[in-house]
Amino acid sequence: MDISRLPSSAIVVEVGPRDGLQSEEEILETEEKVTLLRELYEAGVREFEFSSFVRGDRVPQLRDAEAVFERIRAWEGVRWMALIGNERGYERAVAAGVRTVRWTIVASETFNRKNFNRAIAESLKELQHIGKRASADGVEIVGTIGATFGCPYEGEVPRERVIRLAREMAEVGVREIILADTTGLATPRQVAEVLAELQQRLPGLELGCHFHNTRNAGFANVVAALQMGVRRFDAGVGGIGGCPFAPHAAGNIATEDLVHLLNGMGIETGIRLERLITVAHWLERRLGHPLPGQVMKAGPGRFAQVLQA
Ligand code: ZN
Repeated sequence: MDISRLPSSAIVVEVGPRDGLQSEEEILETEEKVTLLRELYEAGVREFEFSSFVRGDRVPQLRDAEAVFERIRAWEGVRWMALIGNERGYERAVAAGVRTVRWTIVASETFNRKNFNRAIAESLKELQHIGKRASADGVEIVGTIGATFGCPYEGEVPRERVIRLAREMAEVGVREIILADTTGLATPRQVAEVLAELQQRLPGLELGCHFHNTRNAGFANVVAALQMGVRRFDAGVGGIGGCPFAPHAAGNIATEDLVHLLNGMGIETGIRLERLITVAHWLERRLGHPLPGQVMKAGPGRFAQVLQA
């Protein structure tokens, strides 16, 4: 293992309240979402994708994005991010006071069309348009490239297309790009190769990773990315957020499993594992079905004592 580029600290971005809850049948009340966010905040999480400004009739789970944000926006030291899918979503988010929005383009024509009902070129065009407004408004856009490591419809995703999308996002003013393995197809060598090429060709970008554990390679991919110097990872508490193509499959890598891994490798996160596990159990009871996270079942192990000290 090459430990020379391992970061000394990492940022865990909690995406469960958006990426996770959006695929749950059970709809949490606004107050319950605020409780979930507060518990995660108290565990030490400081970056969230807290909701999505999309049409409430399309995603009823997240229809209360404004109401949730109203309750949480004053918390100190938090970077709140919301997903948007079009200009209307941008306007709603900004009107609510959100300062960082996430914009996704899927690196597969078929998948992008299924997700957003438009071609990649149209997604880019809309991003360019919103990008102009965002720079005038002083709003930050974080770009996500979906299906970076493979597509369930088209199979292999050409690396050149990922590079081109990243470059086009950068030209719009995006400084941070999240490489998403939307359906859990990535493997570590591929992760390292894609990162190496992006780092070499677009050195100014901050890169983060969004892995799903659909095929149990999510954490191996995290380690590969860490060795490439990546220090920003999305995760969902309890591992919520299933795979839309496999109803019983695991979803996002579980936040508490990620924190266990990082803590164990001596990589500082500022997050207390035991507290996270309590949140995962609370959420599991509330959602009424087993969650795929592993550390919530196995317990924190020896690192708990260290963290409580
Ligand atoms: Zn996800």
